[in-house]
Amino acid sequence: MKYIGAHVSASGGVENAPANAHKIGATAFALFTKNQRQWVAAPLTAAQIDSFRKVCDLYGYLPAQILPHDSYLINLGHPERDGLEKSRAAFLDEMQRCEQLGLDRLNFHPGSHLQKIAPEESLDRIAESINIALDKTHGVTAVIENTAGQGSNLGFAFEQLAYLIDRVEDKSRVGVCIDTCHAFAAGYDLRTAEACERTFAELDSIVGFEYLKGMHLNDAMKILGSRVDRHTPLGEGMIGMECFRYIMQDARFDGIPLILETPDEERWPEEIAMLKAFAEEK
Ligand SMILES: [Zn+2]
Ligand SMILES: [Zn+2]
Repeated sequence: MKYIGAHVSASGGVENAPANAHKIGATAFALFTKNQRQWVAAPLTAAQIDSFRKVCDLYGYLPAQILPHDSYLINLGHPERDGLEKSRAAFLDEMQRCEQLGLDRLNFHPGSHLQKIAPEESLDRIAESINIALDKTHGVTAVIENTAGQGSNLGFAFEQLAYLIDRVEDKSRVGVCIDTCHAFAAGYDLRTAEACERTFAELDSIVGFEYLKGMHLNDAMKILGSRVDRHTPLGEGMIGMECFRYIMQDARFDGIPLILETPDEERWPEEIAMLKAFAEEK
């Protein structure tokens, strides 16, 4: 079963996200559980938590269909003590919010070395940050997203994702989310079924499909290996439609949230319908 959706708005409160997803025909969704551009947010109220769970039940969204995303401010590999501590506290809060909402995974960008420490040292900090958060929470998997490798962002190579997983103590609560635009920008070809076959075989041998807890489906504005993170609607970028048909028809992508982060949200209903049709063609 393919769970297909988009990163929907939670404006006005997390409890509004499931209805926004239902409206566009989504069978999965992503959301921010707090304002993604602020460090601190008011705690979720009991009423919000209750309402979120009820609306998810109403529309039939299970935790495996929901992929919350953390704040963009967080850098778990921060080179400086203050930035690192602030990030770790904010990440723990995000994990706890997921726990309260009954969600089982949190998607995050691993972190950046900001040209101030060696990439390996920053990766070690990220792994330690994950261990700290997992130690203080239950039932929520830390889902590391691959990046485009823009600037000093880490996690663009599958080897770096494997490096992190290797250093996480509880392997049952760590996973990855592969963003197709980011992978392509990082140099992984996805333009044809054969290229997808090779790229995902590499993912399987280096990381392992058992760690795949979600996908971000985005086309890419810039060329292969550009290291530039710019999404386009499906079929309108440098990746093209074949990749998305391939994913929809491959059982390795069953049972996890497949999330659009394409720029034109007016087109999400149509993009979701098209992906569902690809899945049914098989
Ligand atoms: Zn993404
Ligand atoms: Zn992106």
